[in-house]
Parts: sequence; structure tokens; C-alpha cells
Amino acid sequence: MSAVVINGKQLVSEIRAEIKEEAARLTREGIRPGLAVILVGDDPASAVYVRNKAKACEEAGIYSEVHRLPASTGQDELLALVDKLNRAPNIHGVLVQLPLPGHISEEAVIDAVAPEKDVDCFHPVNVGNLMIGKPGILPCTPSGVIEILKRSGIPIAGKHAVVIGRSNIVGKPMAMLLLRENATVTVCHSRTENMRDVTRLADILVVAVGRGRMITRDYVKPGAVVIDVGMNRMEDGKLAGDVDFDDVKEIAGHITPVPGCVGPMTITMLLKNTVQAARLAHAAKESV
Ligand code: NAP
Repeated sequence: MSAVVINGKQLVSEIRAEIKEEAARLTREGIRPGLAVILVGDDPASAVYVRNKAKACEEAGIYSEVHRLPASTGQDELLALVDKLNRAPNIHGVLVQLPLPGHISEEAVIDAVAPEKDVDCFHPVNVGNLMIGKPGILPCTPSGVIEILKRSGIPIAGKHAVVIGRSNIVGKPMAMLLLRENATVTVCHSRTENMRDVTRLADILVVAVGRGRMITRDYVKPGAVVIDVGMNRMEDGKLAGDVDFDDVKEIAGHITPVPGCVGPMTITMLLKNTVQAARLAHAAKESV
């Protein structure tokens, strides 16, 4: 039996239509959501991500501006720009595209973004809020995965979810959001012993390992939901997920394709966060 392939494109267009409506409503009320993206250096993959983000904003009726800085930009200069954008009333989200050149501290830059404009949810205040279950901005890739599960009608509460990967951007916040949804959560990483025995217990398997097509059917319980976060450029130049799609789809219950599901959903959540930040800024202004 072959898995149901989750239709990421349809889910994304559904949610983007809702975001567009909300952005238009806020714009009518005098606050057009705005996102500023800073790109330092000339990493080609980062340039593509930034272009995609700007295009998605435009389609959703969100104002966006891209600040392209040379790789030689000093940390102080970058921090000064972040500070300026933190104070700009037409900007509700400030995103610094990672990775940054080696001479700039990513931690210093992440800490410099105002928490209420931190639409990536990288700032320690927002990470802390996520940890203790306070409402606020949620990290884009993990919250996108939760949207995919919910909108596909896949129950999470009470299920055993296994996350492969424990990065600050994907694995750890993913585990936290699944816990919030009342899953029983296990996290695997490079030091996990007998990983197949662990992943084969998963009702929901979220893979964020950064190794092209590593996860084959022997890691998967028949009928499991497999969400592939991975995006890897293979030797033949093709884009592949962390899951061996053709192999795993023969045994999984549901599976996400790469490209076309978690990637565009991540950008969708960025749009959602920008609109949410604008709505909160609007509410704060009204209450003064
Ligand atoms: P990362 O920071 O490199 O983390 C990879 C994680 O996988 C680490 O926790 C590592 O364990 C673990 N790992 C590595 N090799 C392993 C192995 N053989 N067995 C078990 N665990 C192993 O990567 P990331 O930033 O989380 O990204 C993961 C993937 O998602 C990448 O392909 C990335 O391109 C993709 N991604 C996609 C989106 C999107 O929008 N679709 C967004 C972000 C990332 P240790 O901690 O022990 O080293």
C-alpha cells in the first residue's frame, strides 16, 4: 500500500489566502504589515530564500524590504541597522538571514532583534515563552509542521512523535510544539543508539537531520506519518529531503514531498508571524 502524499501546495495556498485577507483587513485599518529582511554576503542559497520570502510577502499584500549588505560588513554596522529597523514604525518583522559571515556573532545579532519583531522566533525571550507555553510568536518550520498535521486531519494528542534532530531552529522547538499538542515525544540525534528501534515506534516521525535520503523504510513503522523537513542539494544537483521518499512511501501512512511541503509552509508561517506582529503592534497603539 502506498502512503497518502500530503498536498503541501494546497495547504499552503489555503493558509496564504487567509493571511492575505487578514493583511488586507489590517491595511484598511491603517497598519500594513511590514517585513524587513537583511542579507549579508552572497551565499546563493540564502539569496534564493530571501527572494522567495520577498515574493511571498508581495503576493500576500505584506510590505517588504530587503537590505543586501556585503560580506565585509562589520558587526556594529549590522547591529546599527537592526536597531534602526527595531524602531521603524512601518516594520513589524525583522529577519536576519542565517548563516552570517564568520566574523559576525549570530548570537549577538539574534539577541539584538526586538522580541516583538522576531518573526523567526530565535530570540531567547521568544524561545523561553515557547518553553513555558506562553502565547507569542512561534518558530516557522516547527509551527508549519503542526499546521500540516492539523490541516491534514492527523491526530497528535496521545500519539508517539519521534523527532530526528535537535537543532535550535528545528529539532528542539519541534519537540516542544509536539509536546504542547499532547504528543509523547522522543528526540533522536547523532549520539542516539539503535536509532531504528526508536524511530520504528513513532506514529509521527519528523525528520530534520540534514542528510539527503538517509531515512529509508527500515526506520519507519508501517502506517506512520512521515514529515520530511530536510532540504539537501545532492551530488547530481537535485534537491532531496532527508527521507528516501520512493522507498518510505511504500510503507508510511502519510508522507510529505520535498520540495513542495515543509519549505513553502515555513515561509507561510513567516508571513503569518509578520501579520500577527503587526496586529499586536496595532492593538498596543490603540490601547495607548
Ligand atoms: P542541523 O543544525 O545540522 O542539525 C541536524 C541534527 O541532526 C543534529 O541535531 C544532529 O545531531 C542530527 N544528526 C546528524 N546526523 C545524524 C545521524 N546520522 N543520526 C541521527 N541524528 C543525526 O540541521 P537543521 O538546521 O536542524 O536542519 C535539518 C534539515 O532541515 C536540513 O536538511 C535543513 O536544510 C533543513 N531545513 C529545512 C527548513 C525548511 O524550511 N524546509 C528549515 C530549516 C532547516 P547532533 O545534535 O548530535 O549533532
